[in-house]
Amino acid sequence: MENFPSVDNWHHHMELDANAWPKRVERNYSLIPTTCFNCESACGLLAYIDKETGQVAKFEGNPRHPGSRGRTCAKGPATINQLKDTERILYPMRRKGARGSGEWERITWDEALDEISSKIRASLKTGAKDRVVYHVGRQGHEGFTDRVLKAWGVDGHNSHTNICSAGARTGYAIWHKHDRPSPDHANAKVILLTSSHLEAGHYFNPHAQRILEGMMDGAKLIVIDPRLSNTAAMADHWVPTWPGSEPALFLAWAKMILDQGTYDRPFLENWVNWEMWLDADHPNEPKTFERFIELLKDEYAMYTPEFAAEECRIPIEQVIEVGNIVAGAGKALSSHVWRAAAIGNLGGWQVSRTLHFLNVLTGSVGTKGGTAPNSWAKFKPILFDEPPAPDGWNELHFPQEYTLSHYEMSHILPHLIKEGRGTMDVYFTRVFNPIWTYPDGFAWMEMLQNEDSVGCHIAMTPTWNETAFFADYVLPMGHSAERHDINSYATSAGKWVAFRQPVLREYARREGREVEFTHQVNPGEVWEEDEFWNELSWRIDDGTMGIRKHFMSPYRPGEKITIDEYYQYTFERVPGLTEVAKAEGLTELEYMRKHGAFLIEPATYNKHEQEGWPTPSGKQELYSKTMIEFGYPEHALPHYRIKSHVHPSNLEGEDEYCLLPNFRLPQHIHSRSANAKWLVEIAHKNPIWIHPKDAKKLGVEEGELLKIKTEIGWFVDKVWVTESIKPGVIGCSHHIGRWRRKQDAGNRFMTNEVKIEDRGDGKMRMRTISGVESWDSDDPDTSRIWWRDGGVHQNITHAVQPDPISGHHCWLQKVWLSKPGEDELYGDVEVDMKKSMAHYKKWNAWAKKRETHPRGERRPLWFNRPLAPRPEHFILEDFKE
Ligand code: SF4
Repeated sequence: MENFPSVDNWHHHMELDANAWPKRVERNYSLIPTTCFNCESACGLLAYIDKETGQVAKFEGNPRHPGSRGRTCAKGPATINQLKDTERILYPMRRKGARGSGEWERITWDEALDEISSKIRASLKTGAKDRVVYHVGRQGHEGFTDRVLKAWGVDGHNSHTNICSAGARTGYAIWHKHDRPSPDHANAKVILLTSSHLEAGHYFNPHAQRILEGMMDGAKLIVIDPRLSNTAAMADHWVPTWPGSEPALFLAWAKMILDQGTYDRPFLENWVNWEMWLDADHPNEPKTFERFIELLKDEYAMYTPEFAAEECRIPIEQVIEVGNIVAGAGKALSSHVWRAAAIGNLGGWQVSRTLHFLNVLTGSVGTKGGTAPNSWAKFKPILFDEPPAPDGWNELHFPQEYTLSHYEMSHILPHLIKEGRGTMDVYFTRVFNPIWTYPDGFAWMEMLQNEDSVGCHIAMTPTWNETAFFADYVLPMGHSAERHDINSYATSAGKWVAFRQPVLREYARREGREVEFTHQVNPGEVWEEDEFWNELSWRIDDGTMGIRKHFMSPYRPGEKITIDEYYQYTFERVPGLTEVAKAEGLTELEYMRKHGAFLIEPATYNKHEQEGWPTPSGKQELYSKTMIEFGYPEHALPHYRIKSHVHPSNLEGEDEYCLLPNFRLPQHIHSRSANAKWLVEIAHKNPIWIHPKDAKKLGVEEGELLKIKTEIGWFVDKVWVTESIKPGVIGCSHHIGRWRRKQDAGNRFMTNEVKIEDRGDGKMRMRTISGVESWDSDDPDTSRIWWRDGGVHQNITHAVQPDPISGHHCWLQKVWLSKPGEDELYGDVEVDMKKSMAHYKKWNAWAKKRETHPRGERRPLWFNRPLAPRPEHFILEDFKE
């Protein structure tokens, strides 16, 4: 990075054209910073704008970005593929035929804004607070939409979190309210990963580079995963636990720490609510720290290495060897779990709760080299106006039986609606593709096709997807480099803020041209959400609704705010930025346009020493009174009390296996990489990973077909025989198996053409008609596509399995394996919708059975809730005085 062009030269950068070599052809560029949008990390990108064409030529990393430090993964530079996709949606579209018929007409932004705003206005004027909904897939604009929804007065935020991180979040929140971990890998002595995220998930590139730094400094890397991921392949210790057994292992290690006496006494004594536990469960014991430790040893005595080895199905020697490393980590234990086991299993939230217990015992919470709460290193923007909290509660998002659900119960939305628990007037899906990504996608298809369930569906998306096929309006929103957003993520111990900006707009500004709206410089009329929301909100208000007052310029009284003013206001309030910008003779906004990012704090250690912990006890809650009050007294302390639905005792038949579907290939973006040709060329199939012993037992060889029967249907896939998966478990990556019907457009790099057939009696069948094919377009690469196999859509055959406590979807599936019948072909998918509803009801009943509301509280008042409504709505009507 030392040789990288100086930031002061970024508008006048010359380099030789590599394609013209050996001729020395000079190309002149303006280098404009923005951030990647292809996962949450928001790594810094630099767009190279070719001054001859005025277009983006390529992307590289931005060395000024403190999180990514000039580096990217494959998905960052592949942003150029997304921008230049010849099949992208360039204009707003409105459906012509029936929903899902695939007939569209181009409309103007004015028409879209007028028609959609009048539908929202009509809904709001009924007084309903829960019938206009914004459902987000990929987040990425801190606080913007929450502010808009509050201005509209609706409890209308929905997210994808309950199929993603919600299980882990719940386990962390019970300890200390903060619901995400931020490991300081670079300074760790021991790096303990309960997932494969180094090479595949959050925060791939920023974490990977710091893990490698830690390892180069001598840190040991331990990876817990039933699958030999790329991360596990790099580890000092790969621990292939049986899915869902991880808490048994962590508690065995906790016992080792206690027995060996390597716990951190000052941290435990001062920052853990151990006295509350003694008061409640051991009132007659002396209230001394020494006695507490003795009682704690008794409490965890059952978690022996033998027990862990048996539950996890790993050698006892490995439990002890790796446990000794963890027990010796001291204050430099960086640990992480994100999705993986925490989102896979019934009781998955126990995984993060018991993992964090190891950090608590070793005193490595918030330390250098330890694991801090994510919120310490995340900048929260100060917004120019804060509308009041919504005056209502959305029962479809937070049904009252899921008392501890940390996020919206989005994965059972179609089931709740089918049960008659509500409907929606206007439903925005934003970079969100549940028909394909979620379990039980046919339930989503059914819901979206029913205009009584969803009055109007608006898909805001940069690219076609399976859910957008079933919309009334498809609104093209920008990829990274075509939109504004503020980003700040805890990708390291430091706190930073970054600016995602539309690079052609900034280029126009540098060239002396001012632009009113971003869609004027983007390809076609591709827009961005921020400006769209401002304009839409303005039009919803007919002058009587009090919405417009929340969209007034803070600098020009009585006038509508501009996007530049929005960001100017926020950047003026970033700690330390004003001084640094001034030193360069710039305003705060100008500084961010020029550099793209700013480091607010280099390290955020030990903040609890000033701030404490935001829990009822003010301490780390080893003992959770909340769990007792909400009807789960057996979970007052971290334990392994819930056996996964795919625990070996639940898979006792000869042909019963556990399907591990919740991992991804590192090159892919959930459902936004089918238009990125470089990424698709690297990986485009999702075979079944199966251990040689299991393949032998089933009589299948590499490349042969297997029928995988789930609780609600089945699919047929090819097998990949490999020792990289634990016997008894089969794996299948998501992100592959994308499809389109004959009448649908887009994503032909990675979509099969399929036929969907209603076979009657609730049975839906999908069959691949043709695989991937090449085609002629302005891009010569589309005629060079050599791959044909687009994979299999497995998620649609998964049953929804909402965890009764945290609410998260339990991704792992109990499956039965067999050879397919004669008429069952590769790529075939079948689902029985009656079974899908019955399976939902079975799991939903578990939550209802334990439903408890102390003092009438719907959920713990001290837990976070996205877009929290006014406090009175947290109390159930029957309990109000
Ligand atoms: S890790 Fe990769 S996909 Fe994620 S933001 Fe960074 S470059 Fe983009």
